[in-house]
Amino acid sequence: MLWLAISLFFLWCAYREVSAAIVPPAGYDLPRPVYKPYLALVLVLAAGFAWPTLHRWYFEHYLSRMATLIADGHQASVHCNTLLDTMFDPAMLAAGHADPRTGKIVIQKPWCARLSSYLSHPGRADEEEIASLNLLTHESMHVRGEMNEAFTECQAVQRNARAARLLGVSDDVARRSALYYYEVTYQRRAEIGGLAGSYYSSECAPGKALDEHLADSTWATD
Ligand SMILES: [Zn+2]
Repeated sequence: MLWLAISLFFLWCAYREVSAAIVPPAGYDLPRPVYKPYLALVLVLAAGFAWPTLHRWYFEHYLSRMATLIADGHQASVHCNTLLDTMFDPAMLAAGHADPRTGKIVIQKPWCARLSSYLSHPGRADEEEIASLNLLTHESMHVRGEMNEAFTECQAVQRNARAARLLGVSDDVARRSALYYYEVTYQRRAEIGGLAGSYYSSECAPGKALDEHLADSTWATD
């Protein structure tokens, strides 16, 4: 919001410069011609300061549409927390959280940026970038109605390949990312135990109790 306010200030500078060229400013008899380098500078500054906020809004809108699809049509709205939002978020230690009653998904800083990085180079994503994909799928499963963390996480694990494809990732890379999360990151939760362990179930495996037998499951063999 601060960036947007600064952007509006520069827009106002641009407006003042243009209007002075049409209507004579106070104390002048004639309109004052536009000083083009100044106008260009304030317009560039206005655009530069508006860009981070506008880009975040666009990305949130896009992620909201995708999360709704991942949540089987349950309306989701994604908010990417700024650093300030995160500092005042009571759940700031969680990478994200969701409320199934409102469909609101909150993603903490810097996880939206990680997801954006994942989408810009999914084929060479690192473990955290792949985890950001799972974060979106996981929160979407909450919006879909599941609140038990181990069930939610297992539903996400099975849908990560689908989610990546929805986000425009090619079939084989989507599958590779999803399998990496399941085989490496997810299995590590069992070893760590504690809070991480509460997101894990040994029944989350092909043919076991939590397998939903989705046709496009992360672990489906075709
Ligand atoms: Zn959760």
